[in-house]
Amino acid sequence: MAIEVLNNARIATLDSPGYGLIEAGALVHDHARILWVGPEQDLPAEHALAPRRDMGGRLVTPALIDCHTHIVFAGDRAQEFEMRLQGASYEDIARAGGGILSTVAATRAATEEALIAQALPRLDALLAEGLTTVEVKSGYGLEPETELRMLRAARRLAQLRPVRLRTTYLAAHACPPDYKGRADAYIDEVCLPTLRAAHAEGLVDAVDGFCEGIAFDTAQIGRVFDLARALGLPVKLHAEQLSHQGGTALAARYRALSADHVEYATEADAALMATSGTVAVFLPGAFYTLRETQQPPVAAFRAHQVPMALATDCNPGTSPVTSLLLTMNMGCTLFGLTPEEALRGVTTNAARALGLHDCGRIAPGLRADLAVWDVQSPAELSWRIGFNPLHIRIFGGTE
Ligand SMILES: [Zn+2]
Repeated sequence: MAIEVLNNARIATLDSPGYGLIEAGALVHDHARILWVGPEQDLPAEHALAPRRDMGGRLVTPALIDCHTHIVFAGDRAQEFEMRLQGASYEDIARAGGGILSTVAATRAATEEALIAQALPRLDALLAEGLTTVEVKSGYGLEPETELRMLRAARRLAQLRPVRLRTTYLAAHACPPDYKGRADAYIDEVCLPTLRAAHAEGLVDAVDGFCEGIAFDTAQIGRVFDLARALGLPVKLHAEQLSHQGGTALAARYRALSADHVEYATEADAALMATSGTVAVFLPGAFYTLRETQQPPVAAFRAHQVPMALATDCNPGTSPVTSLLLTMNMGCTLFGLTPEEALRGVTTNAARALGLHDCGRIAPGLRADLAVWDVQSPAELSWRIGFNPLHIRIFGGTE
């Protein structure tokens, strides 16, 4: 494929401690992979005649990765947001048909085309901030047909936009009304057989669950993880969001790619995650929306060198966020991450949380997935609020 040189760039490679910054840098790619990166004055002679594209001294980073989203769903929850702020109680909202079950009802009623049409603007908002890889979960069907339809809709998004997409099976998200008080039966009769069907259709890259007092316990999630393991699928988990349930330890036992939320995780959990190589994914949009006060134990994760990622958790109920830049700011302001940790959290460590090893850094051999920004320093990406300085997004070497 045709070779191109991006020159006159400040390049934050994230391939060494710190930002891995290269001043007056150049990057050579073949419209698929990165071939070379370094100071422009050291550009190898073999690339001297390749076409050059002047970056105007702008900052180049790895393209952004959102490793935890629920962007495929139908309906919206603006009305219950309004009701709540007018003083309605949780019960009032539930009686008016609100809450997660309203999203489940709307999603069950939506065709695949309708799910795609409603997800595309969310995806486009993410792409507009330099994203090239996104994870999308099922989990608003809670019955076989809709779970499969959500996954098919998610896969179709990657045919409609230049993006790399990973799908995660999350039928163990909530217990549907028809299984009220019978969570074990829901796992056995719906979650497990539908996982087999979804896997047989090639729709599943990873398996997830919600381990919480209001969702499923560790024994129930363990059964889902056992089947995932038997099918050769990696797992991840919504764990310790609202209370400490032992989900993080369970995730570590199954060598999960990530444990997500983890506000109530402990130092012992951090130690287990370090051993299993599990990424801690923080979701500050949900923390903000729910006005939570328990912050994740960032110091313990740092001390145990647990990789930390950030994601939007885009969903209609608890995190209607389609901005990774805002999420980076929230990660710094609400959880005390450094801007460098925030940038790694939406690139290097987000890739790891998805089990991807060919993106998230700038180094020879990796995909040419890049974001070019109109900023001077990488910290500016986390510092500004409501500001999108993306100049161009490069996906597989192509703008
Ligand atoms: Zn989530």
